[in-house]
Amino acid sequence: MQIKQWFGFVPDFIITLDAEYCRHCGDAEFMALVEHELYHAAQDTDAFGAPKFSRSTGRPVFTIRGHDVEEFVGVVRRYGADAAGVRALVDAANGPPEIAKAQISHACGTCRLRIVS
Ligand SMILES: [Zn+2]
Repeated sequence: MQIKQWFGFVPDFIITLDAEYCRHCGDAEFMALVEHELYHAAQDTDAFGAPKFSRSTGRPVFTIRGHDVEEFVGVVRRYGADAAGVRALVDAANGPPEIAKAQISHACGTCRLRIVS
């Protein structure tokens, strides 16, 4: 009810940013944080990996997407990026930033929820 009062409808996603953090972080950190949060917003997929749509409305069914990679540094160190399935991340990390260097670790509320749980 409160969301309908605020927006006039129920949006597919709501991204909440910490105003105090955003006030103090740089442009690159702000952009990285917003992009990080947008990557969490995704269309759900069916059992075959195809985009899922609602049978009643025909609209896309959305979900909160997890991170592309979750692995231990020790496993990657001992068995390699390919064995650990993190090759794409390692390749991306070995290149220069496409936008700018930024530090946003622990700034994502979704990530913090997963760390706590
Ligand atoms: Zn996150």
